[in-house]
Amino acid sequence: MRHPTLYDVIVIGGGHAGTEAALAAARAGARTLLLSHNIETIGQMSCNPAIGGIGKGHLVKEIDALGGAMAHAADRAGIQWRTLNASKGPAVRATRCQADRALYKAAIRCIVETEPNLQLFQQAVDDLIIEHGRVTGVVTQMGLSFGANAVVLTAGTFLAGKIHIGQAQYAGGRAGDPPASALAQKLRELPVAADRLKTGTPPRIDLRSIDFRGLEEQPGDDPAPVFSYLGTRDEHPRQVSCWITHTSEQTHELIRGALDRSPLYTGQIEGVGPRYCPSIEDKVVRFADKSSHQIFIEPEGLDTFEVYPNGISTSLPYDVQLALVHSIKGFGKAHITRPGYAIEYDYFDPRGLQPWLETKAIPGLYFAGQINGTTGYEEAAAQGLVAGLNAALAAQGKAPWYPRRDEAYIGVLIDDLTSNGTIEPYRMFTSRAEYRLHLREDNADLRLSETGHALGVVPQARYDALRAKREAVERELQRLGGLWATPGNVLGAAVERQLGITVSRETNAMDLLRRPELDYAQLTSVAGLGPPVARDDVAAQVEVQVKYAGYLERQREEIERQRRHEHTAIPAGFDYDKVRGLSAEVLLKLKRTLPATLGQAARVSGVTPAAISLLLVHLKRRD
Ligand code: FAD
Repeated sequence: MRHPTLYDVIVIGGGHAGTEAALAAARAGARTLLLSHNIETIGQMSCNPAIGGIGKGHLVKEIDALGGAMAHAADRAGIQWRTLNASKGPAVRATRCQADRALYKAAIRCIVETEPNLQLFQQAVDDLIIEHGRVTGVVTQMGLSFGANAVVLTAGTFLAGKIHIGQAQYAGGRAGDPPASALAQKLRELPVAADRLKTGTPPRIDLRSIDFRGLEEQPGDDPAPVFSYLGTRDEHPRQVSCWITHTSEQTHELIRGALDRSPLYTGQIEGVGPRYCPSIEDKVVRFADKSSHQIFIEPEGLDTFEVYPNGISTSLPYDVQLALVHSIKGFGKAHITRPGYAIEYDYFDPRGLQPWLETKAIPGLYFAGQINGTTGYEEAAAQGLVAGLNAALAAQGKAPWYPRRDEAYIGVLIDDLTSNGTIEPYRMFTSRAEYRLHLREDNADLRLSETGHALGVVPQARYDALRAKREAVERELQRLGGLWATPGNVLGAAVERQLGITVSRETNAMDLLRRPELDYAQLTSVAGLGPPVARDDVAAQVEVQVKYAGYLERQREEIERQRRHEHTAIPAGFDYDKVRGLSAEVLLKLKRTLPATLGQAARVSGVTPAAISLLLVHLKRRD
């Protein structure tokens, strides 16, 4: 078949996975086409207009470190910023912003439209062209065909999407958008395992109808954090507060009384929903002993009165939604602008993917985003970037690339999905990573930008910024390492006088910084130990690297050890019952999955590093 227009890479879908995929492919040098239902909805947030959070913020930083768009768009759209876990260690600190929905979409569209090598076309894709077992192009709703060396599918919740509000149900990709039914049907004919998942969203409320008296205000942090390593606070629009309210006993009564009309409980919805973002009806049933649940009232933007009541996602009938909203403090007279709903959609078993997100069944076809069983913009964007980059690499005859678990949360995400699959919407948490101390938000650029530059997705300016930062950190570490305070020298006297620390032996500035009660700013305020570096990010990096040096070193050794044993074979017929100390759960999982190597065993969900050590000891004893 001849294709009138030939691209290196075609991306289907202009959501969070699709835009990052298209941008990465184009940046990596591939002539790229982004095909989406509607150019107006490029970068649209289907649900909560917020970016980042625990685990997700790490993904945003990594996407940014690899040249992606999400952090830049968030910097231009974030109207309330917070650092979560600010009082905890640097590994679990996470950036989150409430975004202005319209500004976010506009920022993404602007980045996509100004990317050289990338063209947009508004059309639904109805079919894939597959020749000799390999994807070679796509066919759109109006019968146009486009050829490509690689195709990245990022159809989100649109594949055979079915929307539920009470007993009412209709086909849709999300509220206000059509589903991708023809494409879903074609995909079901391919040798890729498909199933159904579900997600939901709360009703939206007119802010003017809320009584804020007695509700808790939640202002953002001041100064506000920034997402992109190249971003600045000046890019942020005007800042606003969020608010907090709670469900009441009456709310829960109403919900319990309406469960016989809930599509979740009548069996109407078959797909599994997100465990960590359950509907309010789910919460009331599962946590029956709780008399109240927290609700964050989050503005949807600066130029709209709509707010997002985070915590009451629901697919109950509209009359119940109205009653339950009215039973919540401050919402007594609230006007609902959009009903809440649940959506069921097709997703594909991600174990059918290579770790570079190409389908094993159809070479040249890549899957990314919600269709791989994940939930969340950040998870989608991260996969999109990897799929788009690899589609471009393949189109240029280059080897694939993907980060390892010890290099990036993106590596953890992809490895979890492709090794273990998922039967419920998967979201990222810091607890999913073994090497949290290494995979921090503050060092994603140091971890990834050099590789990104070599792969072509990180432009020279960003790479230069990275080198400047790395050199500044090195210089400062060396400077501190060379400053010695001794009992009786000038520096020692200054330390004793200004910090109240007794200098009883020769100590350098790095040792002083390791003391838990001292931070970098205090240390460098001492005469002779300053001046501090001008850049906050460099100062933060120096502080973390010095304070956690011992832990980081230990983790590095652990990573090395794991890497060495990655390919240690577990012989066929291996008797797991003979390994002493394995828990019943681990035993069951290993017997069920029968991993071929220790590396694979380590990636079976629920198999702990301690269990791997026991296996290793046993294998060594057998040899
Ligand atoms: P999407 O953002 O869905 O983008 C898909 C894009 O593909 C769209 O632009 C669409 O028009 C286009 N497209 C689809 N099919 C075709 C085709 N055949 N031809 C051309 N274009 C096509 N996430 C959370 O983290 N927490 C939540 O609580 C949550 N709740 C949600 C509730 C609802 C109702 C919905 C709809 C989503 C929710 N999400 C939630 C999920 C979040 O929206 C997604 O994780 C994220 O948008 C996925 O990004 P994506 O790029 O994979 O897909």
